[in-house]
Amino acid sequence: MIMDFIGELLKLTVLAGLTVAGILVILIWKKNLATRVTYLRFLIQVAAMVSVFYLFTYPVWQFIVLIVILLLPLVLGRFFCGWLCPFGLYMDAITLIRKGFKVRYRNLPDKLNKFLHKFRYVLLLFFLVVPFILNVIDPPPAESLTLMALVLAGPFDAWRILLGPVIPLIVPWKGPLEISKIYFSYPYVQEVIYYSKLLSIEVFTTIMAWVFVALTIVGSFFLRRVWCRFCPTGSSIAIVNRFRGFKWAPLLHIYKDEVKCTKCGICKRVCPVQVTDVYEQAGGKITTSMCMLCMRCVEMCPYEDCLKVNFGGKTVFKSRNWLEPAKVE
Ligand code: SF4
Ligand code: SF4
Ligand code: SF4
Repeated sequence: MIMDFIGELLKLTVLAGLTVAGILVILIWKKNLATRVTYLRFLIQVAAMVSVFYLFTYPVWQFIVLIVILLLPLVLGRFFCGWLCPFGLYMDAITLIRKGFKVRYRNLPDKLNKFLHKFRYVLLLFFLVVPFILNVIDPPPAESLTLMALVLAGPFDAWRILLGPVIPLIVPWKGPLEISKIYFSYPYVQEVIYYSKLLSIEVFTTIMAWVFVALTIVGSFFLRRVWCRFCPTGSSIAIVNRFRGFKWAPLLHIYKDEVKCTKCGICKRVCPVQVTDVYEQAGGKITTSMCMLCMRCVEMCPYEDCLKVNFGGKTVFKSRNWLEPAKVE
């Protein structure tokens, strides 16, 4: 048992080391790709991925991770998306590779981007409602409901879709791909398998899984944070920011000083999910449900104190006059 644990620890240490080394090689290979905040974000994202791997070693921890994902936004808004999500880490790493190759990113038309942001809620509803209806038609034994809730089984199986983005590339269970007794997975591949079985289209499972992997990798190369435009987990987190009754809840916000803003447009260009509100809105609190609180706009805004990140009323990070607009991609 202890030897198994040490074996898993070694595997993951190697994976985390390779991930960090790969990211650093990309950053060093092409200078000026990142600022100190980008380094910090990568380190936190890798640490989060490693932690999630260990939490997932125990089935009940999946339930706890899910509760954390759902409750964290009450305090930190969508900080999870900007700083902790493993799928976000993979997409950010692909963005760095693209920058290394000097390929310019593409943007979606603003209207389509905003439409997709709303459409995510429909997707979330669909993925949660369909399994629920199927479970009502064929209900599980009632006495095991608590246990099933704790291990996300039976009628609670569908909630695993909210854990889709946090699936590490190496998993501590029998994953979809095995190489030398190491199991590999990828965000949402297990959901593709689950829904294929549910909808009795198992014959297409492998094809759909590989198509999803290929689309998100190629898509992320050209479109920053491509999956975040569709992600059901992101929409479940964003719900907190959408309802008026919950507007007070997150303590982490971005504020803008309208007087100091010169409308240079940098914040709009650097935002990985094309949030335009920081640029368009007048001063004050400008956090929206689309914003992942990655703070990229704050670090790149070239005017002192123009943008500020406040936590519980205290400024924790603010824009400075340290970057020339010409250096920004
Ligand atoms: S929107 Fe989804 S994939 Fe993107 S960072 Fe948030 S949870 Fe991760
Ligand atoms: S980067 Fe700063 S100064 Fe430029 S438009 Fe955005 S908020 Fe205004
Ligand atoms: S608006 Fe700023 S903090 Fe929000 S996602 Fe865009 S760059 Fe990140």
